Amino acid sequence: MVKITLNTSIAALKGIGYRYREALEKKGIEKVKDLLFYFPFRYDDFSQIKLIGELQAGGKVTVEAKIGRVEKKITFRRRMKLTEALVSDKTGSMKIIWFNQPFIAQSLRKGEIYRFSGKVDFNSGFLALHNPSFEKMAGPSVNTAGLLPVYHEDYLLTSRWLRRQIHPLLPLTKKIPETLPELLLKNYGLLPLPKAAREIHFPASPKIKDAARRRLAFEELFLIQLYLGIRKLKWKKHLAYSVIPDINLTKKFASCLPFKLTLAQRRSAWEILQDLGKSYPMNRLLEGDVGSGKTLVAAIAALNVAKRGLQAVILAPTEILAFQHFKTLKQELQDFLPLGSVGVFTRSQRRTGGKKLSKNEFLLKVKSNQVKIICATHAVLQEEVKFPELALVVIDEQHRFGVSQRSHLQRKLSRLGKNVPHLLSMSATPIPRTLALAIYSDLELSILNELPKGRRKIITRIVAPANRKLMYQFIRQEIKKGRQAFVICPLIEDKLNVNGEKALFGEASFAPGGELFQPRSSPTKQQEIRAVKKEQKVLSEKIFPDLKVALLHGRMKGKEKERIMLDFKDKKFHILVATSVVEVGVDIQNATVMLVEGAERFGLAQLHQFRGRVGRGEHQSYCFLALSEGGINANRRLKALQKCEDGFRLAEQDLKIRGPGEFFGERQSGLPDLTMANLNDSEIIKTARAAAALILAKSPDLSEYPVLKTRLELFKKGFHGE
Ligand code: ADP
Ligand code: MG
Repeated sequence: MVKITLNTSIAALKGIGYRYREALEKKGIEKVKDLLFYFPFRYDDFSQIKLIGELQAGGKVTVEAKIGRVEKKITFRRRMKLTEALVSDKTGSMKIIWFNQPFIAQSLRKGEIYRFSGKVDFNSGFLALHNPSFEKMAGPSVNTAGLLPVYHEDYLLTSRWLRRQIHPLLPLTKKIPETLPELLLKNYGLLPLPKAAREIHFPASPKIKDAARRRLAFEELFLIQLYLGIRKLKWKKHLAYSVIPDINLTKKFASCLPFKLTLAQRRSAWEILQDLGKSYPMNRLLEGDVGSGKTLVAAIAALNVAKRGLQAVILAPTEILAFQHFKTLKQELQDFLPLGSVGVFTRSQRRTGGKKLSKNEFLLKVKSNQVKIICATHAVLQEEVKFPELALVVIDEQHRFGVSQRSHLQRKLSRLGKNVPHLLSMSATPIPRTLALAIYSDLELSILNELPKGRRKIITRIVAPANRKLMYQFIRQEIKKGRQAFVICPLIEDKLNVNGEKALFGEASFAPGGELFQPRSSPTKQQEIRAVKKEQKVLSEKIFPDLKVALLHGRMKGKEKERIMLDFKDKKFHILVATSVVEVGVDIQNATVMLVEGAERFGLAQLHQFRGRVGRGEHQSYCFLALSEGGINANRRLKALQKCEDGFRLAEQDLKIRGPGEFFGERQSGLPDLTMANLNDSEIIKTARAAAALILAKSPDLSEYPVLKTRLELFKKGFHGE
């Protein structure tokens, strides 16, 4: 017999045949060690044993009882498969019922004693246990505390099977090398890894289970903090242009605006200007709800940079937005900079001032530092452009750029030359503070938690199919008053994807740091375009035949899109039917209606973004969330949106509704898979931050902690874009 060690292949274990091996390998489990590190995500509690005679309805209990008989049944009306068992202990007997689990009968032996854990409820007037989990009383996996691990399962790898495999391997946990420095274990009262790895599977008490979880969660969060901490230290080592802010100029600029800056804008601008003055590059995230006026803050930073003869690039995720920034900045800054200082660069067009330029002409102007503020899409990154005096890069709607795009950008920036530009990321996706601490700790944070004064609340209504006529009448009235409307078209695609989930567009709205608006499985562009065309046809021919209805989608050429947006701004048509391309940033002050078709299919964050497209001017604005014909009822999400207009609060609610599991379930978040860490747990997050700071203060390059260093290297592989 082979001696089993941590590095033994699972193929050598008893009872793991080809099929099991394949299933395990799919989960990345190849060695004994991997199996031991396959942690349960919850436990069934068999610890509080009750007697059948003392049971009451409601609540979860565990009983220890002998099986009398087992029967399979089919319910008369609903054709549901039932398994019923009659069980008894010394105080009485009761029924146990499993719904739709016909295979259960095979694993129950008459005359044997089991522990059953589940909910007590009435069944035909008698107390019964519904769908309990159970555990045979003899055998190795029963432990004194009665906490039984429940693992993420699939059809083959059930928790029962995993328990049977893992239990005999537990003695090997003693051989697992410690990964954390002694100092941390002592300072923060953490279990040693061998003990945590053992107790996480079959804990001796609930208390030690919690301690094991804490230790394992701590390690994950600590490694993230360490990674981000090192990245921050490295970033700060670069040289940057020290852009001493021109306070008088900034004040003058602010006083020339048609409105007063909000307090939050002033505070954020100040924080940014302070950073620009330093001789190492800024790395700051400006978070602010839709309409909070982030562009203006960026404009102040760019103005200061340009005024010192240096260059700034403002990156936008779409051409429409790049052009909008160009127009806004050109107009706002015209009295403060020479003509032609502001330019725009996208795949389809280049301009400075009012002049159209060829690509080469534009790049020449960049090279000679004539154009100082460049609004651009990421097309500009693909060019071998030399920015001779690049001092600032602003990434607008940063979540729209992929994680790898972002780190590619950072790497590219840090290789540009002697000086690395200051980096300002802007995002309208507010994430809760603890989460920000956990995943953005390499960034400084500025928050615009205030909307400009005088903004009216956008009236939001969920519209059932029956009320569609009324809604159209209302829109017509608005248009008669001279206003305009957006219609975000419905998504017709409704097939199940490979995971058996409905293909919900825009569902993955609040995953941390990553491509937040990347739908998990989106309909193809083609389908989206077909849908939007159909919607335009219906609206322009049947519903509003007397009005002008235009169309906008992502496949159109940049010029065409820009033309349409300009025409919309110039009120050349009344209604714009669009795909989600208008989701970000676009500013049309005369539009007062946002109608989202098939609203139940969009995520909260995305709906909030759509809504943010209106209510930007002086007029009362409206957002209609229209449900699809036969679509599900207005769910919690839509109701939350109707009630609440604060993006930060919506983010928190989204977190609550969808659970933190969804947060780090997203691979594209750029975070490694966190198995234990709960990103809502601010205590552990804070501890992990403090610990990382402690270690980095002692040894910034981890040379004094070689074990930790190796561990981090391994962990980093889970990061995208590394
Ligand atoms: P976002 O933060 O969503 O990017 P924008 O920068 O597009 O917001 O600003 C939204 C609108 O609010 C723009 O029309 C802008 O001119 C206007 N705005 C910005 N700051 C203020 C302010 N302090 N008072 C009034 N309006 C403002
Ligand atoms: Mg914006």
